[in-house]
Amino acid sequence: MSGTILDGKKVSREIQDELRPRIERLSRAPALAVILVGENPASQIYVRNKVRACRDLGIRSFDATPPDTISTGELLRIIEDFNRNPEVDGILVQTPLPKQVDTQRVLQAVDPAKDADGFHPCNVGNLVANRPAPRACTPAGILELLKRSQIPIAGRRAVIVGRSDIVGKPMAFMLLHENATVTICHSRTRDLADECRRADILVAAMGRAAAITADFIKPGAVVIDVGMNRLTNEAEVVRLFAHEQARLAAFARNGYTLVGDVDPMAMREIASAYTPVPGGVGPLTIAMLMANTVALAEQHLG
Ligand code: NDP
Repeated sequence: MSGTILDGKKVSREIQDELRPRIERLSRAPALAVILVGENPASQIYVRNKVRACRDLGIRSFDATPPDTISTGELLRIIEDFNRNPEVDGILVQTPLPKQVDTQRVLQAVDPAKDADGFHPCNVGNLVANRPAPRACTPAGILELLKRSQIPIAGRRAVIVGRSDIVGKPMAFMLLHENATVTICHSRTRDLADECRRADILVAAMGRAAAITADFIKPGAVVIDVGMNRLTNEAEVVRLFAHEQARLAAFARNGYTLVGDVDPMAMREIASAYTPVPGGVGPLTIAMLMANTVALAEQHLG
């Protein structure tokens, strides 16, 4: 029997539809400033999708697209301008930044009251203390998905694979505040399969294509697959998607397909519910960015 698909696209639409009346009540359109450094193709796609989501909701977007030769000082000045601009409610710095730029300094320069991504140390502290503040979008979206899908969290064992500042760590605190018993795994975890098999809720955010296989999943677990890995190896694609004709045809056309961190067949057959890739966690990240921007605008405009 197959597990239930947790439809990230549908929940993302619901979240965004709920923002519309809140946006209409504001005295002016909320505004998000997006800083995209250089020409990283993946970053360009992410930013394009974020700006499109803003436009669809009537959120104004400001952009800055400096070249990848920019210095930390120059980038700090761009952020300072947006910090001072009363028309700007939220600021997002698309990462990764070029090597010569001090990413931590840049993220700390964003006014915590305009921190649309929830990455500023003040807001990370607010998360740890369970105080209201902008939350990191990807884990916040996952939490919305779990709640709106009526998946119980309190008292359940949650295992998160990955301890990044943008996914793994904030996810752990969000699930902890929902009273899950939380384990965080990483590249030095001794027996990853054994840890994962204990999970009622398994969140895979490691960036390793289909690394979580059948023997990592407890029957009936809820599996959230955050990974977004571009797969170009034909034999691997055929092995993972043997029965998915549409996927194989798209691979033949495009030369790549997106796969998560979890083996898709194992997830479908063993989990009670799971997020597909694509169409699971990805759309939720954008919805929560919009939600953070609207909440910041509400605060700024009273
Ligand atoms: P990072 O590379 O920052 O972190 C990866 C984490 O996984 C690290 O903590 C690392 O451990 C751990 N890890 C790596 N390999 C292993 C292993 N073999 N066993 C156990 N742990 C391992 O990645 P991100 O958190 O930024 O992203 C993770 C994935 O999620 C990526 O595929 C990314 O593309 C995707 N993503 C998707 C988003 C979406 O909207 N759908 C948004 C953000 C990310 P250690 O700390 O020890 O190095």
